[in-house]
Amino acid sequence: MPVSAIASSEPTEITLARDGKPEATIIVAADTTPSARLAALEFQYHVEKITGAVLPIQTDQQELRDSARILVGESAATRKLGLRGDDFNPQEYLIKFLPGTIVLIGRDWKDTEENRSEAGRGTNYYTLREARHIIDYFKATGRAGESDAEGKAIELPGLFDDQGTCYAAYDFLERFCDVRWYGPTELNVVYPKKRTLTIRRYDVRRSPTMKYREGLGGGWPIVKAQWNNPTQDELNLYWRRLRVGGEKWAGNHSFRSYYDRFLRRNPERPELFEGARPDYFAQGWSEGELQFCYTNPALVEQVVEDARDYFDGKGLKGLQPAMGDYFAVVPMDNANWCKCDRCQAMLARDRDNIRGRHFSSGTASHYLFSFVNAVAREVGKTHPDKYISTLAYHVYAYRPEDIELEPNIAVAPCLHARHQWAPRIKQNDLDLYKKWVEPRDRRIYLWNYYCFPMEPAVIHDWNCFPGFSAHMLAEQIKMYHKDGVRGVFLCGIGEQVDYYLTMKMYDDPSIDPDELLKEFFTRYFGVASEPMKQFYLRIEAIFSNPDNYPSVIRTTDRQYHQTERIAWEYLGTRERMRQLGKLMRKAGQLAETDLERQRVRLWEEGVWEYMREGRRKYHREHRSGTR
Ligand SMILES: [Zn+2]
Repeated sequence: MPVSAIASSEPTEITLARDGKPEATIIVAADTTPSARLAALEFQYHVEKITGAVLPIQTDQQELRDSARILVGESAATRKLGLRGDDFNPQEYLIKFLPGTIVLIGRDWKDTEENRSEAGRGTNYYTLREARHIIDYFKATGRAGESDAEGKAIELPGLFDDQGTCYAAYDFLERFCDVRWYGPTELNVVYPKKRTLTIRRYDVRRSPTMKYREGLGGGWPIVKAQWNNPTQDELNLYWRRLRVGGEKWAGNHSFRSYYDRFLRRNPERPELFEGARPDYFAQGWSEGELQFCYTNPALVEQVVEDARDYFDGKGLKGLQPAMGDYFAVVPMDNANWCKCDRCQAMLARDRDNIRGRHFSSGTASHYLFSFVNAVAREVGKTHPDKYISTLAYHVYAYRPEDIELEPNIAVAPCLHARHQWAPRIKQNDLDLYKKWVEPRDRRIYLWNYYCFPMEPAVIHDWNCFPGFSAHMLAEQIKMYHKDGVRGVFLCGIGEQVDYYLTMKMYDDPSIDPDELLKEFFTRYFGVASEPMKQFYLRIEAIFSNPDNYPSVIRTTDRQYHQTERIAWEYLGTRERMRQLGKLMRKAGQLAETDLERQRVRLWEEGVWEYMREGRRKYHREHRSGTR
């Protein structure tokens, strides 16, 4: 990242607080942006946690007391210095030191009627407006009742609204003040305690490397406990601290509105529904969720019209994912394909386009990408700078080999990111991924399944062997960056360490995962760090090694998931559990401070007891022996 030289005549340090007393004033514009408002509050809050000093927040209209200035977001004072938010690229930000002044600035979304009227619906079907979460900031930072402002809701900058000033403030707090957000609750935040806070200065101007970074969760076992049962407000604040969001991209099954708009629901009395277009829907099915007749030119025309209307600012019709320059065209999530002759003829071409019985294949690639291509070609004629976003998923995961794909198709291959223990799945995924990224002929996003191995365990009520896999994830993320991948949607978020590492490495691919892990365990668990780190690494090594699984995963091409039997007969064996238990006890004995003890307890209850219970339950129900 660019770091500019400081002229030698200027002081190399600036003091924000001395002996617990403020030595700097935070300055924002009188009509500040949601991003600068949050940045100022967060700056003030964290400096107070570190030093006990409350830096006053003033507007640029008030007279300045005699102290250093921290200019947060564009204001009259930054304009005097020639710094305007709109001069920055989206997501770009600046930390700049001047004599007696620190500037934290970037491009920020402005709260205007016009900006509020922008339509958009994300991958999870929420709208741009719904992504501007409203929280009680004082409660979310553990200060209920402490301030007059408590109970007054503030609107956070939307996940996909420009918030460069917030990025600058968060980067500053990490880089210069040693704050780390290892989770959404107070207990998860790490910072030094010192009465005097002096900053060694160097300028920073950068933006996150991965443009789109989405992963929201926290309600599943393990991570929920590691995060100390966060409230929704705490979670919403945490997404901002980790800089979740970014570029407006959306891709998910995109025909949910069509059932309401075009399905004739009462065949006895079709006159009740004038908009019915039975020809849009898959022929030959009488029950289940309907697919569509993807070879019907009228369906193509309809989707093209919807996309054009969206790009022309006429809004979205129902549950249609589309944000910014991207309009999603993705089939519904079922295999009830149309039985008309045209559709069946096209599907027949790809019948054997699958390895063994893998989940991700190409048995419908030709069929569905012909449809996506037809939509993209038409939309490209009128809106050449916009994109049709689609997924490479399930039976249309493989890139079609006999179709010249339009350049305005942005595609997101769906990858089993935490299935690297299954060599056949790993290879199938890697091969299909390479076919998409290697031509370098389009924008690539990814849909990564971080939901495994937890999802089947949650659904079927058993406890999984944790899917810790920091090193494999880090290796993948470095590959994504090298291949120019523009963004990732996390389907499930994994656990505390893996999620944190993922979000940090999306932001900055130069991070060394071993350094990050060392820093996490040292700062988070203090004197108990060594056994806690060994505990994590041991679970990671067991989970990641194919040799620990039934041998069929190395010999047969098909979909594998962790099962309860694999978890507690193959992975969490008696001997391994005995070793893990020893490490956990050691950590409990070593922990000294209140914080260390509480954090060890979160892992003991959230990870270790969860595992023990899983093993007990399995062996109680199966009495299957002694492994
Ligand atoms: Zn058809």
